Amino acid sequence: MTRLDQRIQKCVVCGTEKKVIDIMSTSSFGPMDLDTRPPMMARSTLINQIQYCENCHYSNNNISSKIRGFNKVMLASKEYLDIVNKDINKTAKAFILSGQLKSNVYDYKDAGFQYLKAAWVFDDVFDYKNAKDARKKSLEYFNLYLKDNYDQNLSIMCVDIYRRISDFKNAISLANNILSKGVKEFLEKILNFQIELCNNKDIECHTVGEIE
Ligand SMILES: [Zn+2]
Repeated sequence: MTRLDQRIQKCVVCGTEKKVIDIMSTSSFGPMDLDTRPPMMARSTLINQIQYCENCHYSNNNISSKIRGFNKVMLASKEYLDIVNKDINKTAKAFILSGQLKSNVYDYKDAGFQYLKAAWVFDDVFDYKNAKDARKKSLEYFNLYLKDNYDQNLSIMCVDIYRRISDFKNAISLANNILSKGVKEFLEKILNFQIELCNNKDIECHTVGEIE
């Protein structure tokens, strides 16, 4: 079961104190989604994986810790404040803001994950337009990361993200590219399943449990 504990945490940027909730343990039921989104039980704790300071708008997995390379001026940029002022789901917004800060310090892999988590939150509140935009952004950052780094698991995740935003062409070409380099049997099955879904123009969420 999941147990949540409350405590007070201080924003590392402005010193504002905030009540936060800690996740003590998490159980997951059922298989994860193809983009590694955890099953329902663990997913409901997504809200506790991000902290946002209402006072200075700093956002991080933990607001008492400073993102390496962070500078206060980042919180004052027009791009950042435009997101702050958006009328969207608060948890998703906090992930997006944190993603912005991570991209500002060139941590593109983390930035991509923050945007992907924002997409999961949007999915859960049926905000599909913003979910799609967040997925596009996550791909943008993952691609920047993958340009200089080899990461097979992340590339396989990207296949699923492309498919979920109806970019079947890129999904199939990336899947074939990964397959051509040789992958383990189970991953090969995942990629072939993805190609099949793309051929059927299927953008729905699927889990790894569907793979034989
Ligand atoms: Zn603050």
